[in-house]
Amino acid sequence: MSETLSEISRHALVTGASRGIGRAIALMLARMGCKVTVNYVRNGAAAAEAVALIEADGGKARAIGADISEPGAVAALVKEARGGFGPIGILVNNAGIARHSSVFENTIEDFDATFATNVRSAFLVTQAVLPDMRDLAFGRLIFLSSTAAQTGGVISAAYAGSKAALLGMMHHYAASLMPWNITANAISPAFIDTDIFAGVTLPPAEKLPLGRMGRADEVAEVARMIVTCGFMTGQTIQVNAGRYMT
Ligand code: NDP
Repeated sequence: MSETLSEISRHALVTGASRGIGRAIALMLARMGCKVTVNYVRNGAAAAEAVALIEADGGKARAIGADISEPGAVAALVKEARGGFGPIGILVNNAGIARHSSVFENTIEDFDATFATNVRSAFLVTQAVLPDMRDLAFGRLIFLSSTAAQTGGVISAAYAGSKAALLGMMHHYAASLMPWNITANAISPAFIDTDIFAGVTLPPAEKLPLGRMGRADEVAEVARMIVTCGFMTGQTIQVNAGRYMT
């Protein structure tokens, strides 16, 4: 871990870390020496398994269940997380949902649920941890966007819109928080092999640009780089096997 990350800044909160990309990032941050708060909404057993994996590797982690689309739950999550491992210096806004539907059947319910879980949640959690980062004079904000923000993707208009909204939010935080040594960056994956695609028909893996799905730990590698690099802010890193090039 870079010398710029002092002991006090090594508490990382990862939303939606029970499974998939969030879990892989939580494991990576723990291996880097962070104490990790593993957030989840329903799947307590998977969150407990993520914590057990971190502890078996010699790391420190706690699982906290909270529906981060709810303001009251976010306040309670951040309070409990801070009480466990101290001020939060690293926040990974990872939790998200992808409700797949035909373009002619997108509903307002799906739109509202998608924006509440994918966008409002990131705003709520970020605002709740910013006082810690300001006091630490250190912060790393990471937003899990998606290549769908640029290509439209295969899920829905609401999903692609939610992921584009995260980029605008990230740009605002990046531009506003430099005086406090707080960086904000986004990771935009595509076709990473997780549960999020359950029920979605994807192109066969051999038809994807690199001939396979990506792995969650390949996304976690980018999170590691964002945390250790203090001179990069306001950027979006694509992890998509060349599906979309910047
Ligand atoms: P998964 O479906 O595998 O995991 C989703 C995680 O989010 C779970 O830990 C789940 O918790 C949690 N979660 C869902 N809703 C809430 C909520 N309201 N409050 C708290 N936690 C919640 O998804 P992925 O790992 O694939 O995706 C992670 C992020 O990456 C998402 O934002 C997704 O949009 C983005 N992404 C993923 C891509 C991919 O190819 N996989 C491509 C582009 C972007 P629980 O286990 O309790 O249900």
